[in-house]
Amino acid sequence: MPPGLASNFILGGPRGYARGEGTEGTEALETVLGGLEDAHALAFSTGMAAAAAVFAQVRVGATVVLPDDCYQGVVGLARSGMKQGRWSVLRLPTDATARWCEAAATADLLWLESPSNPLLCVADLERICAAPRKSGALLAVDNTFATPLNQQPLQLGADVAVQSGTKFIGGHSDLLLGVATTRSAALRDSLAQERTFTGATPGALEAFLALRGLRTLSLRLACAQDNAVLLAPRLLAHPSIERVHYPGLASHPTHAIAAAQLKGFGSMLSFEVRGGAAAADAVCRGLRLIQHATSLGAVESTLERRAAIPGQEHLPPGLLRLSVGVEDAEDLWADLTQALPR
Ligand SMILES: *Cc1c(COP(=O)(O)O)cnc(C)c1O
Repeated sequence: MPPGLASNFILGGPRGYARGEGTEGTEALETVLGGLEDAHALAFSTGMAAAAAVFAQVRVGATVVLPDDCYQGVVGLARSGMKQGRWSVLRLPTDATARWCEAAATADLLWLESPSNPLLCVADLERICAAPRKSGALLAVDNTFATPLNQQPLQLGADVAVQSGTKFIGGHSDLLLGVATTRSAALRDSLAQERTFTGATPGALEAFLALRGLRTLSLRLACAQDNAVLLAPRLLAHPSIERVHYPGLASHPTHAIAAAQLKGFGSMLSFEVRGGAAAADAVCRGLRLIQHATSLGAVESTLERRAAIPGQEHLPPGLLRLSVGVEDAEDLWADLTQALPR
């Protein structure tokens, strides 16, 4: 489908104005995204716009539960609402399954992120989703790292799955996009209303690029994931590296649940360089092939020191997050070994 660049349409047809009804292109994208999960899909201008639309569903005075390890944009959104008196926030460790199940009885929004950013913790979604929930409560899962190809939260019992389409769906670091998928049409409609109010509708060009990205998602993810599976144990064995966080490694605290729940372990990993911040910064400067850049899920590998980001100072200072791309695995390994301290 060509990108139909239009803001408004001849009246009497299926759509009048693109902020509300989108374009033919956004509808085509939503049809494909919904088909992937056998669900209703709604595209947003960014992943954060999709997250904000979910948070807008909860009433004033609500309790929101977030994981300890969570995308900093969502943490900022939750904190800002808390400061304005809109809700209270409870933080729980991703792997504290029993505590999440207990919180489900009283919370209004359970926001999970699995695997988590940047420690790659996997939540036991099936058990948490099965716990009795307060009536009207929403269980949301940020599925950005897994993509619907590796994990389908709605099938595991979540009410809404959110993704930053900027990452794996786009896959080429050239667009911003968000996605929310739901089992219920009513929840989809309510999110769509929020999207219209806030003007968080994606542009026609972004929808076109996202659809083109989706055509190669399975190829890109398979290749990047194979690369990550090869690199993770090599990094673990490297004398300059203290720890590797990758759910595919038996040493990862949530490896067992990851193996049971995910179709693949994904292409995101993080590792801690001996020597802390200074040593890790030197790695960032020394890389030649891997890009020293934020974001993830693209064809090119990107790496950044997460504790250098404002609000992320709680992370180990030498922790580097690596989004493994589709380059030749041996080229990636050669780049890492030449940049790591010897
Ligand atoms: C990038 C990201 C987001 C936010 O998505 P944007 O498209 O940047 O707004 C949310 N969650 C996770 C896990 C992300 O990596």
